[in-house]
Amino acid sequence: ANVKNTAAIEVDETYVAHNYHPLPVVVAEAAGAWVTDLDGKRYLDCLAGYSALNFGHGHPELLATAHGQLDRVTLTSRAFHNAELGPFCEALATLAGKDMVLPMNTGAEAVETAIKVSRKWAYDVKGVPADQANIVVGQGNFHGRTTTIVGFSDDPGARDGFGPFTPGFRSVPYGDLAALDAAIDENTAAVLMEPIQGEGGVIVPPEGFLREVRELTTRRRVLFVADEIQSGLGRTGTTFACDLEEVVPDIYILGKALGGGIVPVSAIVANHDVLDVIHPGNHGSTFGGNPLAAAVGHAVVDLLATGEYQQRAARLGQRLDEGLRALIGQGVLAVRARGLWAGVDVDPALMSGRELCERLAARGVLAKETHGSTVRLAPPLVIEEGDLDWMLEQIGAVITGR
Ligand code: PLP
Repeated sequence: ANVKNTAAIEVDETYVAHNYHPLPVVVAEAAGAWVTDLDGKRYLDCLAGYSALNFGHGHPELLATAHGQLDRVTLTSRAFHNAELGPFCEALATLAGKDMVLPMNTGAEAVETAIKVSRKWAYDVKGVPADQANIVVGQGNFHGRTTTIVGFSDDPGARDGFGPFTPGFRSVPYGDLAALDAAIDENTAAVLMEPIQGEGGVIVPPEGFLREVRELTTRRRVLFVADEIQSGLGRTGTTFACDLEEVVPDIYILGKALGGGIVPVSAIVANHDVLDVIHPGNHGSTFGGNPLAAAVGHAVVDLLATGEYQQRAARLGQRLDEGLRALIGQGVLAVRARGLWAGVDVDPALMSGRELCERLAARGVLAKETHGSTVRLAPPLVIEEGDLDWMLEQIGAVITGR
């Protein structure tokens, strides 16, 4: 029954580098919140490409935009203007309430961009002595996989064996304002944090923390850089997770869903006083801001500008939260949910996160563990209510063993 999948997995195991440990599912087709494997079995996608598929697989408007742009022009490089980039950046800046956008491709590149911009701002605007700038980050962070970024990770798997690392980073316990305050000095360029830690296990900071970070960074003349790559663009029931505390950072870092699950699109979004420190020759990317990416990104921003997806995430998120909370004490230790995004801590005595995900996959639900016994649920925001209820039933059945 599983013949084609088994054969395909064997080819992967042989020829694809083992930098991931995928669940034994080979996706061949997808639509909306559902994917189909090579043998025709259907699964509800409750990972959504680590939130890159907030609008689901094959969203009709995003596909139509991509198809149309494919036939016009796909790549120019930034040596020339292209007709799509300006309008995309205007729309994205407007959505974020900021002046301008620096487009890149992947999340890690956008984080690197924010680091470079923050440092240059520290030297050119704040007056930090050359090469003395520091950036404060949160413990348990995940910001990507480049050598600079893994250098300020505290995950041994991400970090060990890849040194020497870029200096200039300080790590403090996430959610600890006093520690953050103590780590900031006159040479601090920025505080770089996820407003909710995604890979860390959907870790929500204490109530009021983001507001306090905003107040502290403003007072100490430090940039507040919010990595909204996973938390942003509708996932939490608001456009940005920072909106949950009505906080506006100096720099938004965006990625994942910005490409509509079609092409890699990332960006940082900020005001002139920050982004004007970058001049021609300081930074760039061959593919960053290409017309195909810009057209799709623009269509994504248009979807978000309606507010429908945020509302849907908030409404269905309540259902998700309630359904998961009902399992606390029955094998679930804790649930942290914001919008259609939840971290579920399973009792490790019962099973590991990996085991839970394997059992869910057998029942047709795709999810992924983050660390140990924490499983992240992040279905596409277009998931049907009935499908969400069905997913909760499957989780309940696996956890309670019924
Ligand atoms: N920042 C955050 C918060 C992320 O969740 C991720 C990816 O999971 C990244 C950065 C890195 O993005 P990419 O994998 O596109 O480089």
